[in-house]
Amino acid sequence: MQLLDGKETSKSIRQELAEAVEKRKENGQKTPHLAAVLVGNDGGSLTYVGAKVKACKEIGFESTLIHLEDTISEEALLAKMDELNNDDEIDGFIVQLPLPKHIAEKKITLAIDPKKDVDGFHPTNLGNMLLNLPGFLPATPAGMMELLKRYNIKTEGKHCVVIGRSHIVGSPMSILMARNANPGNATVTLTHSKTQNLKEITLQADIIITAIGKPEFLTGDMIKIGAVLLDVGITRVPDNSKKRGYHLSGDVDFESVSKKASYLTPVPGGVGPMTIVSLLMNTLHAMNLNHK
Ligand code: NAP
Repeated sequence: MQLLDGKETSKSIRQELAEAVEKRKENGQKTPHLAAVLVGNDGGSLTYVGAKVKACKEIGFESTLIHLEDTISEEALLAKMDELNNDDEIDGFIVQLPLPKHIAEKKITLAIDPKKDVDGFHPTNLGNMLLNLPGFLPATPAGMMELLKRYNIKTEGKHCVVIGRSHIVGSPMSILMARNANPGNATVTLTHSKTQNLKEITLQADIIITAIGKPEFLTGDMIKIGAVLLDVGITRVPDNSKKRGYHLSGDVDFESVSKKASYLTPVPGGVGPMTIVSLLMNTLHAMNLNHK
């Protein structure tokens, strides 16, 4: 079994991005600028946004963190987004999810200018993905596609089973794997909580992508020998032996699956770092798009 090392791969990509920024600076061109809007103080969100801002700084991107009170009204958040949509200095921005209950996520997703939608959640970008047109791909699926590409994993003609159908991971990943592209051209089965006989299906899979958020759900007896596993799940599992009181677990039972899989992403250090680097790649792309 070979690890699909998202940490190392993302490091090389960040190096490439840093060089591209350096070159731009030398030529007196604009530096990519990502803004992140964080509403409230959810622990996970603070960590994720912090990591995104830090990653920008490390490669020479500009970044702005806009931290808003969780009592902010929907109107005030929409007004802030309008400001960002019209600010030429900002190339792309994200609104970290989840949002407080009094704010309608759908409204917020629709309010971002698709040209600045570096998370790739706006219907325009999802539609472009479906039609294989240029646009922004959602960061996590894009990161996985990049990982498959960089490890030269053959996907054409393979049976790919995606577990989980969220709008940000499972569903877009199923579309990307089925697209007429490389990576892609797989025969895809998209499964979810209502799927029956999941094990029968996963046993037929050459490639499995799990995005459900259930620790160690996928066990070795559910996969065939040589399967490729991409584990998106990240769950904080209470653990008194750790200083922080928890450890991170993926959807895959690493112990049993690693004995049969040909490739496997670790958690942490697999899909997560690729998600952040995809956001950076999208931001550079946004800058090129908006400042031709
Ligand atoms: P989500 O919105 O949490 O939805 C979970 C999906 O899993 C749903 O489609 C659900 O089916 C399905 N599911 C639940 N139990 C199942 C079962 N027993 N069998 C088959 N399918 C089942 O999904 P998400 O936002 O994509 O998040 C999934 C996990 O990925 C979470 O742990 C999250 O933290 C992690 N994540 C990681 C990254 C990263 O960068 N590494 C990025 C995003 C998310 P129904 O639709 O029928 O309810």
